[in-house]
Amino acid sequence: MKVKRLKRANRLLTFFKYNYRFVPPYRVLVDGTFCQAALTEKLNLAEQIPKYLTEETHLMTTKCVLDELEKIGPLLYGALVIAKQFEIAECPHKTPIAAADCLSHLARRAASGKTKYLIATQHDELTEKLRTIVGTPIMYIKFKTILLDNISEATKSGASKDEEEIKRLKQLKKEIMGPSDALQKKKKKKKAGGVNPLSCKKKIMKASVETVRTGERTATGKRKRTKKKKKDTVELD
Ligand SMILES: [Zn+2]
Repeated sequence: MKVKRLKRANRLLTFFKYNYRFVPPYRVLVDGTFCQAALTEKLNLAEQIPKYLTEETHLMTTKCVLDELEKIGPLLYGALVIAKQFEIAECPHKTPIAAADCLSHLARRAASGKTKYLIATQHDELTEKLRTIVGTPIMYIKFKTILLDNISEATKSGASKDEEEIKRLKQLKKEIMGPSDALQKKKKKKKAGGVNPLSCKKKIMKASVETVRTGERTATGKRKRTKKKKKDTVELD
């Protein structure tokens, strides 16, 4: 199960890497709902998220997220303590806005900008919104584990243009490199089949002796000699 989970994460991250230029260290934007879930499930985010993404990771939040948690007060105090440990990702909201709006704003900006974010949230409405923003990876907690959301339709269709281009290039490469690839495979096959001198040394020795003998006895030797003689005689005549 663990391996499957990590393999899936790796596959999803590779998709974002190639299609949306996500490069480690990854920036994970965390909101209050995610911190709260981590608290109730007793997950150490600073430890578990980099483990899950298998890359260096910066856990981040925004001032809007902290402001909202502070406003809610004692009920989410634990989540606030967790969120406060993270780096602050700059957002343009001088007067804090709702955390969900702030994160979707940053996600939208990230889609077209260089700074990429993975967004970690348990907020259903925000998740739905994020699924419409092309190229946004979403993380959530379920059954005491951190998971990446499946690639959204918007993100898939945004990538499909690039995928078509990649397919076209791969086809082109095949057309150009095809024969050499085939040759390499043949070479490998020969090596694998032919080289086993230690295990069948005797057989090889016997075989080679026999072929030499038969070669001497059969027509090849005689023919060569006769040809030479004939040639010589022709030349001499
Ligand atoms: Zn903000």
